[in-house]
Amino acid sequence: MSILLPFLFLLFHGHGAAAGDICIVGSGISGSSTAFFLTNYTSAFSGGQLRVFERCAKVGGRLATVTVAGEDFEAGGSIIHPRNLHVRRFADLLGLAVKTDGDDDWLGIWDGARFVFQTLRPLPPGTSWLRRKLHVLLNSLCLLKRYGLSLLKMDRFVQEMLQRFMLYYNGFESRPVFDTVEEMLKWSGLYGLTRRTLEEELVDAGLNSQTISELVTVITRINYGQSVSISGLAGAVSLAGSESGLWAVKGGNWQLAAGLLEAANTTLHIQEGIDSIHYAGDHYVLKSNKGHEYDCEATVVATPLDEVNITFSPPISIPPRKMQHTHATFVRGLLNHVSVILLSVTNYFITAMHQGTNFYEQQVMDTSIVT
Ligand SMILES: Cc1cc2nc3c(=O)[nH]c(=O)nc-3n(C[C@H](O)[C@H](O)[C@H](O)COP(=O)(O)OP(=O)(O)OC[C@H]3O[C@@H](n4cnc5c(N)ncnc54)[C@H](O)[C@@H]3O)c2cc1C
Repeated sequence: MSILLPFLFLLFHGHGAAAGDICIVGSGISGSSTAFFLTNYTSAFSGGQLRVFERCAKVGGRLATVTVAGEDFEAGGSIIHPRNLHVRRFADLLGLAVKTDGDDDWLGIWDGARFVFQTLRPLPPGTSWLRRKLHVLLNSLCLLKRYGLSLLKMDRFVQEMLQRFMLYYNGFESRPVFDTVEEMLKWSGLYGLTRRTLEEELVDAGLNSQTISELVTVITRINYGQSVSISGLAGAVSLAGSESGLWAVKGGNWQLAAGLLEAANTTLHIQEGIDSIHYAGDHYVLKSNKGHEYDCEATVVATPLDEVNITFSPPISIPPRKMQHTHATFVRGLLNHVSVILLSVTNYFITAMHQGTNFYEQQVMDTSIVT
């Protein structure tokens, strides 16, 4: 779920070649922020053009909106964590208006027979600041009453992960340049989290089983459509996505990518996919699906290598990894009877996990409400 944990693969030629174009494959947040950083913070880029290739008709990649019934919805990266300092700075630099999460969601957790937990009914618009604060406090107390100290332990687990993540903002005096993602995670101490499941991590952190099967399950399901058996790192990121202060760009987060590409003065090749990248001794030759060839002094592949359909010569080694595809499904329709009854009790209801039942799948399919 993290914008700016890019799958960047950099191909630089050896020293001594003439300055030329720098090429970036992919116009998502990784490609566009790379363009921005190259333009603003390096002297390596001099003279040539900064070309960005995007095979789709729009920039932004997995930051995309869909329009249903005249309304725009985020279809990919929708919420940005307050500690994502780069993206916060991009939004400010580009003058993009942002919106923050409200505290007034009306949430209920359904165990198949009853609501095991419900937040208070939201306050009407125009309620005073003081009453709103009190409302948030009361909701926190309700949570504390049901989940007790496990809530604090969960928060500590997330804060520890975030503190390690923040180390990546250190300057080069105290932060090395990493060759691999593994190396990067080991340096900050996050690697261990990738070796175990979220559930294992949380049990070790002292959370009780009720909190894991109800609250944590709900959060991992909302954010990733997954259970607590995802990796500890993905799970910790998912839990961070339930904190307060989350925000988004009004009108769509894709504007971050569009703005950065413009600010970096890139030459944008939209709807032009790169089919092959050939190393020609002192530069790279990129061939596109439009039959064009581009000589590039350096090339950045800013799209997941696991999925990329580019022929590299000489070939590169891409270690096999198990990937899980996430499907964002938008349903426009009328709610069925069951849903309407439940919706009169809360405006979000989410199913808890119970061992031995296939409750999740059944309920999701029947009601189309659970995320
Ligand atoms: C459903 C969903 C929900 C998410 N929710 C969140 C969230 O709430 N918060 C958060 O922080 N993150 C979230 N994420 C993750 C976040 O969206 C991604 O991590 C981020 O957008 C990835 O950016 P990227 O630039 O690395 O890759 P991408 O956005 O995938 O960009 C790669 C680009 O490369 C292009 N491309 C690929 N191959 C070629 C080629 N051969 N030639 C030319 N162009 C090519 C693609 O078309 C694409 O535009 C979510 C992701 C998904 C899918």
